[in-house]
Parts: sequence; structure tokens; C-alpha cells
Amino acid sequence: MASSACCFKTRRGVCSPVVSTTQQRLRQRLPLAAAPAGIARDRFGRTLNYLRISLTDMCNLRCVYCMPADMTFRPRAELMQDDELLRLIAQFAAMGFRKFRYTGGEPTLRANLPGLISRVSAMPGVAMQAITTNGVMLDQLAAPLREAGIACVNVSIDSLDPQKFRRMTRWGNVRDVWAGIQSAQRAGLGIKLNAVVVRGHNDQQDVVDLARLTLEHDWQVRYIELMPFGGIHEFQRAHIVSEDELRATIEAALGPLQIQNEGELDGEARVFRLRGARGSLGFISSVTKPFCAGCSRVRLTADGKLRLCLLRDKEVDLLTPMRAGLDDAGLEALIREGLWEKPWGHGLEQNQFATNRVMSEIGG
Ligand code: SAM
Ligand code: SF4
Repeated sequence: MASSACCFKTRRGVCSPVVSTTQQRLRQRLPLAAAPAGIARDRFGRTLNYLRISLTDMCNLRCVYCMPADMTFRPRAELMQDDELLRLIAQFAAMGFRKFRYTGGEPTLRANLPGLISRVSAMPGVAMQAITTNGVMLDQLAAPLREAGIACVNVSIDSLDPQKFRRMTRWGNVRDVWAGIQSAQRAGLGIKLNAVVVRGHNDQQDVVDLARLTLEHDWQVRYIELMPFGGIHEFQRAHIVSEDELRATIEAALGPLQIQNEGELDGEARVFRLRGARGSLGFISSVTKPFCAGCSRVRLTADGKLRLCLLRDKEVDLLTPMRAGLDDAGLEALIREGLWEKPWGHGLEQNQFATNRVMSEIGG
């Protein structure tokens, strides 16, 4: 793990996870033991029911905060094939997982995506499927995805300005993404727009322009704090903008923000509304205001590793044992043992960074 002076101090002080008294007790007392049967839990008592699945590590963009320009991708044979992925999703659903989000790399690059999603829709226990996409292919895919069973789409759009958008994505065209969003609206998908805020790139006029969209549209615009990991964490550490700073910029331009979810998070977001707005603004501040205490999610990487925390290197290889003939009971035991050992939270406040992957290989 890399270690250097802490860059994650905000105007309100150093970041610190929210921890309830019960969870503090559990955190100290529960020994590592064989994971119990029934609903999936970790050793801190957190119920785990949300799986985020990276369908591919490939992408048709190269966002500056996500991956290096000369990224190399894994050979196809190393990635989960459809039958392997479906087997794993069925196994997680049988263990109480209810929400599944497809991500990447860019998930719309996966061949026959609507077909794959329809098969998951038919599985018992699957209550909600969503997708996070850069939106480049959404114009053609929104309606088939909706038909297959996707309820909501999160579209990443860091700026409405064509030049700035291109600079942040290295070659993307914001008009393609806007066409995708319109198409998602016509298809009846729930829409959230994700913007990663990067100092000096989109932290001033762009965040205000995105917020203004919520005056007329029933969308949630979500500002995501830049997260540091992988081989490019120096860039990320130098460009982070805190939630407090962002809210001040938006309020100075558009007026006061009213909190919508005092005391609780909507997923991982603190949600606000501009006066008279149809939509809302969400702030996802994993670095300066972590939400580890309420975390219910784990991740599956495209190469079949169960990743227990976005910002920790710890992973359990599921694909290799599956390919070696592991039966369903063995697979369930392997997953439960992994879940049980989900780390409490990230180690950013101790200057510990995940280093084994960049964001595009995990899925966000
Ligand atoms: N390609 C799709 C997309 O861009 O929406 C899905 C994968 S992308 C890795 C998932 C989300 O992670 C996106 O909203 C993206 O903006 C966000 N993301 C990527 N790198 C990040 C970083 N270093 N810190 C915070 N969020 C990041
Ligand atoms: Fe691709 Fe999404 Fe990463 Fe941008 S954020 S490079 S679109 S995976």
C-alpha cells in the first residue's frame, strides 16, 4: 500500500466513517468464524444484498480519472462467459441478493446484453436490475434494455460542454450521450446522471449547468467525489473536490439546497433539491463522508473475482474454482466465507489505497 501525507482533509476535518454503537460492538467482538447460512451477512452484522457486476473491462472512452490512455485489456478467455455469469447471479439471488447493477468498463459493449438481462429477469429472487453506462450506445439500446428488465439507468456525463466533455473522456462526444439520455427517457427508464467532479476540469460552471437540468427534468444529478486508487492515484488525490465545496458553488449560482434525506442515505447519496425543481441532486462522497457502516454491496469483476470493497484489494477468485469443477454447495460456501470477511471500510484516512486495479476494472 502506498503511504504519504494525507490529502483527504476537508474544511470540516479529516474524513471519518459513520459507525453506530451496535456496529462498533460487533466490530470489536465477532470472531472470524464459518459464515452462517441464510441471508448473506458479514461479520459486522451488515446484510449484503446488492451485487454490482462488471460485464467487461473494455471501454469505448478513456476518462482521465478512470484509466490510463494506454490501458490494455484482459484476453476474452479470462473473462466470465454468459453461462458462468448466470450461474453466479443465480447463486447470489439464492443467498438473498435482490439488486443487481451492470457496469464495466462499458457494459453496453457486452455482446447480446438485452438477452443476458432477460435471462436474469426470469430468475427467482431478482427484484431490481440497473445499469451504469457512459451512454454512448444508449440511443440504440435504451428500449431493448427496458424491455429486458432494466428499471434504471445511471448515465455518466461530467460536463454538458462538448470541449470539456471531450477533454475529460479523451475523445467522447457529449451529443451521443445526450441522445442516449433522451432515448432512455422515451423508453421509460428511471434516470440518474453521474458526474465525477475533477478540480480544474468541471468543478465550476459545469456542476452548476448539470444542477440546472433538475429544474425541468425529473432526474437525479449525482456528483461523485473523485476516488483514488490503482496506478493513477496521484492524479486523483491532486484533483479531488469535496462535497461541501461543491454545494457552496451550486448554492452561490442557483440558490439554497434543501436536504431530502436527513439522517439517512438514498443508497450512497445525500440528496438535495433546488427550490421548485422537478429532480434532485445527489452527493456521493465516499472519501470525505464515507458510508461504510450502511454498505450492503459487493462486486463481481469481469474476470470473476468477488471484490468485497471498492477501495480495498481483497478479492476472492470464484471463476478459477468454477472452471475446475466446483459444485453449487462448494460455490455457495466460498462466496459466504468471502462475504463474511468483507472489510469494515476503506483505509483512505490511513493513506491506504487499493492498488491492484483501476476503476474501469472494478466498475465503480
Ligand atoms: N463506463 C460506465 C460509466 O462510465 O458509467 C460504467 C463504469 S464506470 C467505472 C462507473 C462509474 O465510476 C462512472 O460513473 C464513473 O464516472 C465512475 N468513476 C470512474 N473512475 C472514478 C474515480 N476515480 N472516482 C470516482 N468515480 C469514478
Ligand atoms: Fe470508460 Fe466509464 Fe471509465 Fe469513462 S468512467 S473510462 S466511460 S469505464
